[in-house]
Amino acid sequence: MNFLEERIVKDGIVKEGNVLKVDSFLNHQMDIDLFNRMGAEFKKRFAGKNINKIVTIEASGIGIACVAAMHFNVPVVFAKKAKSINIDGDMYIAEVESFTHKCKNQVIVSKKFLSENDHVLIIDDFLANGCALQGLISIINQAGGTVEGIGIAIEKGFQNGGNIIRNLGYQLESLAIVDSMDAATGTVKFREQ
Ligand code: 5GP
Repeated sequence: MNFLEERIVKDGIVKEGNVLKVDSFLNHQMDIDLFNRMGAEFKKRFAGKNINKIVTIEASGIGIACVAAMHFNVPVVFAKKAKSINIDGDMYIAEVESFTHKCKNQVIVSKKFLSENDHVLIIDDFLANGCALQGLISIINQAGGTVEGIGIAIEKGFQNGGNIIRNLGYQLESLAIVDSMDAATGTVKFREQ
């Protein structure tokens, strides 16, 4: 087990409905030493890629993306969840269905902060069905930028997001892939990587 898998076993809580709660170190209280190790690992896995920007989505991706950005020495842009009322022509927009909240959000990025010159690493905390990632990929495509890779903390391998994104040809690196989890016993099984 790697350092993130060990932490999930120690402090993660398996909830009904295929939700893994990691709010003591990742989603609410944030363990910055852990984030720093994750950032170093992303840097290693995307070594040789020409990355000039990290893109994530609010809220939980932001902390991880910012600490990772220290390793890449690049700025972070986060997609904002928006009420349609705020949206004007200066925004790239995508529709994202929230796995945890079961609702649809429009997410936006200002055209000022993404362009065809950008070589982007996408970072997020979780990958489940892949809606969040597809929204971010759409926004980067609208800008004419290049997705150089995707770094995820925890992929739920029993949901189909990972397959969809890998089949699209992206380099997707998940630091922990959960193959199965059981709310009754609290056990989590990881994919060998
Ligand atoms: P997707 O769009 O891939 O279906 O879901 C990804 C988003 O849903 C992530 O950004 C994350 O915020 C949230 N998410 C999905 N599954 C889980 C989970 O098991 N636990 C937590 N804490 N968040 C999740």
